[in-house]
Order: sequence, then C-alpha cells, then structure tokens
Amino acid sequence: MFDKNFEDARFSLNICNACRYCENICPVFKAIELRRTFSDNDIIYLANLCHDCRGCYYACQYAPPHTFDINIPKIFGTLRLETYKNYRNSKFSKDIVDKPHLFSIATFIVSFLFYTISSIINTGKLSLMGIVDQNDSFYSILPENFLIITMFIPFAISLTIYIKNLIDYCDYIGIKKGDFLKLFNHIRSLKSLVLLEFLDGGGYGCNYPGEEYSFSRRIYHQFVLFGFKITFISTLIAAFMSHILNISPPYTFTSLPVIFGSIGGALLLLGLTGLLYLRTKMDRIPYSENVSSMDINFIIILLLSVLTGFLVLLFRSTTFMPILLIIHLSIVITFFITLPFSKLQHAVFRYVSIYKFFSEINK
Ligand code: SF4
Ligand code: SF4
Repeated sequence: MFDKNFEDARFSLNICNACRYCENICPVFKAIELRRTFSDNDIIYLANLCHDCRGCYYACQYAPPHTFDINIPKIFGTLRLETYKNYRNSKFSKDIVDKPHLFSIATFIVSFLFYTISSIINTGKLSLMGIVDQNDSFYSILPENFLIITMFIPFAISLTIYIKNLIDYCDYIGIKKGDFLKLFNHIRSLKSLVLLEFLDGGGYGCNYPGEEYSFSRRIYHQFVLFGFKITFISTLIAAFMSHILNISPPYTFTSLPVIFGSIGGALLLLGLTGLLYLRTKMDRIPYSENVSSMDINFIIILLLSVLTGFLVLLFRSTTFMPILLIIHLSIVITFFITLPFSKLQHAVFRYVSIYKFFSEINK
C-alpha cells in the first residue's frame, strides 16, 4: 500500500515537473523543480511541505476525471498519514494513528479512574459531589504538587517523542546535523509556520472549503494557534502568582490568569468550531478520507478540554467543581498523551520540511 502511494506520487510529480503550470502557486512546486527524480525520501519531504491549500488541484487540467487522475492534495494527504505511521516502522504508533479515537477513549477512562481514586484517597470521602466549601481551591481535591507531577510527566514524554521525531525526520529527508543550525533559516521557517504563509494560495487564499478562494481556513488556524499561545501565557502567569507571589487559586474573574485563559479559550473555541464547520462544507475529492479520524479526533479532544475548562471556571464555587475538575484534568491528560500520535505531529514534520525548503532555495 505504501509502495503504491509512492508510485502514484512519483507518476504525478513527473507530470508536474514537465507541466510546471503550478510553479508559482506554492513552494512545493519550486522544490519539485529542483529535482529530476523523486526518491521516497523526497516524496515524503514534499508531502509534508504541502499545506493542502488545494490550489494545484483546481488549476490542473489533468485532475479527475482526466485519465492521468492528478490529485496532488489527496496523494500528499495519504502520504502524510503514512509518514506518521510508517517511516519509523513502529507498529505501536501505526496502531494508534489508525484508531486514534480508541486510544483517546482508553486514555481518558484510565486518567479519570486515576484522578477519581486519588481524590477519594486525598479527601477521604467517597462522593465527589459536595465535598468542598465555597472558598476551597482545586488543591483541596488533589494536592498541587501531585497535579504538577501528573501533568508534567505525560507532557515531558510527549515532548521527548516530538524531539525524537524531529531528529529522525531530519535524518530521513537528508538534513545533516550541521545544516540544521542555520539561524536565518530557522527565523524564516518560524515566521512562515506561525503566519501560515503557505496557506495564502499566492495571495488569494486557499481553495477551501470549495473551489472559491478564501482566507477562512488560514484565519481559523490562526485563532487556534493564538489560542494556544494565550492559554500558555495564562498558565505561566498562574504559576508565577502561585509559586513566586504565594497567591493560591482560585483566582478572581478579573485576575490576569483568568482573563488570559478566557481569551485563549475563546479563540480556541472559535478556531476549532470554524475548522469543523469548514470540514462539513469541503470538497472531498482532493481529500484523503484516511486522515479523517485523526483530524476529527484531535479537534474533539481540544474542544472538550476548552469546554470543560470553562465549565470548571463557571461552576468552581458549586458542588459540581470536584467532578468537573476531574473530567477536565482527564481530558487534558488525554490531550498530552495522545499529542505525539495526533494531528498536531504535522507541526514538527512541516516545520522541518519548511526549513529544508528555505535551505534549498538559499543555497
Ligand atoms: S498539478 Fe497539474 S497543472 Fe499543476 S503542475 Fe501538476 S500537472 Fe501541471
Ligand atoms: S495543495 Fe497547495 S500546498 Fe499542496 S502542493 Fe498543491 S498548491 Fe501546493
């Protein structure tokens, strides 16, 4: 199956290299033109450089129903998924990528049981309802250090897997260690990644969800990206207040952690629901259906962690606080544990591919 996908991609890329009609649409075609032949490693690099803007599909005179059946976004989407599953030959990672929802549900159940049992042991009470006073903090349910450790361990493991992926992928697509240390290329690549430059379709926007040009996908992605950043800032401020200023939570609605957390959460909600909405409208021909469960699974977990975060905030002075807190923590843990196998791993592969692209054109 993997070989067949490479064959299909090689067939299409050779036609593109002769045609070159799309050379100004995106960097992928500039990278194609630097090559006469396409190794498997080249194809994986190009697939991960593609931002799925779909411009080449709607511009192509050989797209389906033409017998050449050139459908670059679809074949690259399939290959990206195969990258996540196969290029490391890990059966474990392959199984998780194939059935992300099962892995996520199992992780959530285990986390929920773990936090529930821990809170019962900590409070000495069997019922999760009504065991706190109005002014009690979350730490009366689960101690602060316990929470920090249980959040940090899965986060650190995920981060380690991400770094390993980054090193392995650099090696796979032929970036040597010394070549990955060029500051200018990193600045250029980071700028491109953060601004999602390659989703601008040459200045007109993507052909997404349909053939018309639109910036909606890029904008919703930006909401998600900035939502992440602002909630991270909120966490840093909360840590500073708790550990340096010795001001323990719960923080008031007008405090900085709550304001930043709410703005970040609102941006995430807007971005994620927008992306889900666009998916319901999208043209499915230039799309690899195989990636669907991974895409949706990631969006749902993130949406649930934001929604339950807001519920904890709104009901933190009520008897629902303990159960809502445990549900929220279990979803956040599920998010951390599933991260290296989720849709978000594309950020690493894409960043390295963008870096290679700027290295190639700046030679
Ligand atoms: S996608 Fe089609 S139009 Fe664009 S370069 Fe390839 S063959 Fe030519
Ligand atoms: S889908 Fe967009 S980013 Fe991907 S190869 Fe085609 S034009 Fe380039």
